[in-house]
Amino acid sequence: MIGLSGEKPLISEIWRRISRRNFFGAAPGALATATLASLTANAQQQDNTARAEGDHSSSNPGPANRALVDENHSSSTPPPTDHGDIGPIWYSFDLARKRVEEGGWTHEVTERELPPSKDLAGVNMRLTAGSFRELHWHTADEWAYMEYGNARVSVMNPDGTMFLDDVGEGDLWFFPAGFPHSIQGLGPDGCQFLLVFNDGMFSEDNTFLLSEFVAHIPPEVLTKNSRLTPGDIAKLPKEQLYIFPAALPQSLGADRAAIGGNSVAAKQQYTFKMGSMTPTVKTAGGEVRIVDSRNFPVNTSIAAGLVRLKPGAIRELHWHPNASEWQFWLAGKGRMTVVMPEGRARTMDFNANDVGFVPAVAGHYIENTGNTDVVFLEMFKSSQFVDFSLNNWIGRMPPEMATAHLNLSEDALKRIPAEKQPIIGG
Ligand code: MN
Ligand code: MN
Repeated sequence: MIGLSGEKPLISEIWRRISRRNFFGAAPGALATATLASLTANAQQQDNTARAEGDHSSSNPGPANRALVDENHSSSTPPPTDHGDIGPIWYSFDLARKRVEEGGWTHEVTERELPPSKDLAGVNMRLTAGSFRELHWHTADEWAYMEYGNARVSVMNPDGTMFLDDVGEGDLWFFPAGFPHSIQGLGPDGCQFLLVFNDGMFSEDNTFLLSEFVAHIPPEVLTKNSRLTPGDIAKLPKEQLYIFPAALPQSLGADRAAIGGNSVAAKQQYTFKMGSMTPTVKTAGGEVRIVDSRNFPVNTSIAAGLVRLKPGAIRELHWHPNASEWQFWLAGKGRMTVVMPEGRARTMDFNANDVGFVPAVAGHYIENTGNTDVVFLEMFKSSQFVDFSLNNWIGRMPPEMATAHLNLSEDALKRIPAEKQPIIGG
């Protein structure tokens, strides 16, 4: 019985194809050029308008990756407003190769995985309790968001002052390029975090490691430089540690005291409590928390918005004048449409652990299409978070200017919220 009901659309599709073929098949001999032209126009219009959900034109009787189709319905059955090609705007950490070491793992979504993303690259990393991401430094600035658990981080300033702190879920850190730093998982179950770098081609595999620095220096130089004996040098690691297990550290206070207390403590604050900060914007539909150089001064290069959308709410139609947008989806299910010049538009669905990309200055929205809150990060290679609201712009136009462009009545114009509302509905 299930088979019979499943066959119904298939039969009608076959019938539809046969009738179309006969009609077009008869055309070259029987119809005038003008009629052909109008048929072509009709066919093009159909391409633009007849792909609504449930329309048979988008049915796919051939093979399908069921899991991907179910996950990203907007890709397999685009809304009729989608048009043309704007390049990829979606990737998922769940597709990225995972480098698993004793003590944790790492994987990354960079320009290599998502080619249009040239400004920012992201890494997701897990460290078990006690395990280290080896002391290192690198060419890009590092911004991080704690997704889970607890970690101890350290970073040293060029003047020798040291910053040591513990971070938990919702906290950030920012380490400038070239500044040596460490991350260690704490109890009870280590940590997981997102790293974002201000260079699309950055790779977490391509960092300067403490172990490799000392392993590739002639021993007599190490003795002269650091007064190490040959016995000491023999014990140094011969290859990189990268991620490795270690004992849990003592308390933060004890560690700070052990290195010299206040006399060597950095004056700068390299961590920030983003998850628990007062929302920058709060509406019935959700919350936005914005962190950039204005409220987190050491962070001069990566601006971020942490957005929570209730079911049905949308992050309003907007664009950013200063940078492309790199998103990390922390929870929920939603969709985004990105609109580019020449009427090109693409809609994709997003789930937790997905990465979204919006080319610089392109218009977009994000809609919660699920039954639970959507939580995502909007990230920019910029010292400040900046956006333009479409509603706000229309509201600032003299009414006759708005009407001339959009054909809207005075009543309709009054209904459009005139002020920026980052989150609408819900
Ligand atoms: Mn790093
Ligand atoms: Mn945006």
